[in-house]
Amino acid sequence: MIYLDHNASSPLLPAAREAWLDAAERFPGNPSSPHRSGARAEYALEDARHRLAARLGCRNTDLIWTSGATEGCATAIHHAGQAAGPGAVAWVSAIEHPAVHENARRFFAGRIEKIPVDARGVVEVGWLREQRRRESPALVAVMAANNETGVLQPWREVRDWCIAERIPFFCDATQVCGRMPVDGLGACDLAAGSAHKFGGPRGVGFLKVPATGDFHALVHGGKQAEGRRAGTENVTGVLAMIAALEWCEARIAAGEAAGHAAWRDSFEAAVTAALPGTRVVGAGAPRLWNTSSLLLPAADCRQRWVVRLDKAGFAVSTGSACASGSEEPSHVLTAMGVSASEAGRAVRVSAGWSTTEAEWTALRDAMGKVWAASRATDGSGEGESR
Ligand code: PLP
Repeated sequence: MIYLDHNASSPLLPAAREAWLDAAERFPGNPSSPHRSGARAEYALEDARHRLAARLGCRNTDLIWTSGATEGCATAIHHAGQAAGPGAVAWVSAIEHPAVHENARRFFAGRIEKIPVDARGVVEVGWLREQRRRESPALVAVMAANNETGVLQPWREVRDWCIAERIPFFCDATQVCGRMPVDGLGACDLAAGSAHKFGGPRGVGFLKVPATGDFHALVHGGKQAEGRRAGTENVTGVLAMIAALEWCEARIAAGEAAGHAAWRDSFEAAVTAALPGTRVVGAGAPRLWNTSSLLLPAADCRQRWVVRLDKAGFAVSTGSACASGSEEPSHVLTAMGVSASEAGRAVRVSAGWSTTEAEWTALRDAMGKVWAASRATDGSGEGESR
């Protein structure tokens, strides 16, 4: 199976596996325990916090460990809602992950403004300036890169504007961590990441929290993280996550992303040439090097594409749901102005650092075959000649 669904979950990197096994051996104690075994585990966690803080550009004391990005998003938005009090408004980009949208609905019920995106899927920064004339929000939430399209967002610009306007800013950085440099995330009031998106284990992540003021915890029941996130820390998971991040950042620093982006671009060029009517989502916008979101031709729904490609040995994704008729089209594509029927033909391919050029080429060839077979089944016969 050729695995091309890294935006959903990226397989455990050898460096992370090694760090996990090493930590399981060396740090069996509970970091809160008073004995030396506990102290050693606490020291290892502290070291991990320093290493992450150095990469993000924040104080080590402003980081808490979470179970992943869903918890990070929920904690961030809960905090902002509690800190602001009743009546406060949140501005949330229209393309955020449900981990942000659903928690915003919960903690800012009925008090959410959606920040629009343009047709390429990029958040409209000008909207913030316009809207600021009318109101001052208690939170702005703009993700760093979209999980469905890979389109990079102007989070640094929004962060700086929020700092100047003294508006709390939350960045869901889940899809950029391990793919793009994470420096500068530490200057956001709140920023979330998740290990399993970049080759760390599942069930562990981090949240950068504000440097000043009281923090309104979501999870209570213990004194860990100075009461900001109760519960015994996942020491093995945290150490494996930091090892994975450092491994990925070494690839980024070595300039390897450009080569991967070139393979993705050649794949897109070949598929759009071979499959008439194919559209690349977010074309023209800066995108993550690993993601290709395609609106494919065919009367078939995208589920057929995904299922057929699965049968051909490729794990790709729809981004969201299909043609059973019961599921809504992707809110991300809808916000970009893509019609429901087109959104129903979206396929998301997301690579990892281990993905090779040959794998992109093999997928291209398999898509050509699926297209030809589907044309033959349609009775058009066109496919046979491809
Ligand atoms: N935010 C984004 C942008 C995501 O892509 C995801 C996962 O797909 C999440 C949040 C949730 O992450 P987790 O699986 O770590 O809870």
